[in-house]
Amino acid sequence: MSETITPLIVGNWKMNGLGEQLSEITALSKELSKLEKQKCKTIICPPATLIRPACSKAGDNIMIGGQNCHAEISGAHTGDISAQMLKDAGAKYVIVGHSERRTDCFETDSQVKAKSKAAIAANIIPIICVGENEEQRKSGNAIDIVLSQINGSIPDDLKGNEIVVAYEPVWAIGTGLVPSISDIDEMHLAIRQALVKKLGENGDKTPILYGGSMKSSNSAQILEIAHVNGGLVGGASLKASDFFGIIATIK
Ligand code: PEP
Repeated sequence: MSETITPLIVGNWKMNGLGEQLSEITALSKELSKLEKQKCKTIICPPATLIRPACSKAGDNIMIGGQNCHAEISGAHTGDISAQMLKDAGAKYVIVGHSERRTDCFETDSQVKAKSKAAIAANIIPIICVGENEEQRKSGNAIDIVLSQINGSIPDDLKGNEIVVAYEPVWAIGTGLVPSISDIDEMHLAIRQALVKKLGENGDKTPILYGGSMKSSNSAQILEIAHVNGGLVGGASLKASDFFGIIATIK
């Protein structure tokens, strides 16, 4: 964990959560308010239907994000949501290029790049997800694949520190499997070097999150790795107690 980048712990609720689930945000905010000093920026990305009410439950210690946005501001795109709409509902962040969308909706790197640009234009920080699948990991291509996703998905003309990157090995998402500490270390260092090459000194300040089966029993070790600046958490973000348990392990 870096001393200069404030850690981010981001909860991705995926397609989970009805109105009653907002009580988890109230409970989390209450737990966070008992801390003498906030250990991280805490972000919850609920389904789009809950963004606005989630903002009103979040207090000043939780920020709310979206899980996807369209690359255009408005238009004939039935069922889609623009970054500007997310912003209007109160979102401060948006996850783009999550592997579930790359798989389910065939999203490409260039679409992820366009969505990231739309988010930045709407004044929302995109959390740009990258990660290899099981076959790519087994064949020894994980780093090449991830660096190619980084190059294809991150806008080229960033002016400042406008993005977050999340490394999420696809085979670790929702499976209970986690890469070895040395594999996470190696990947995050490679991502950091690629970001510095692409973005200059801003690349040194860009938070790089780890995601994939993170829970309170493994987060302390993962969050200690040099270029891990926080976590993107799925299953363990649904209950305030589990999510707070991860936050509590930040040193
Ligand atoms: C995710 O959805 O981004 C994720 C990392 O899920 P999980 O923590 O459940 O593996």
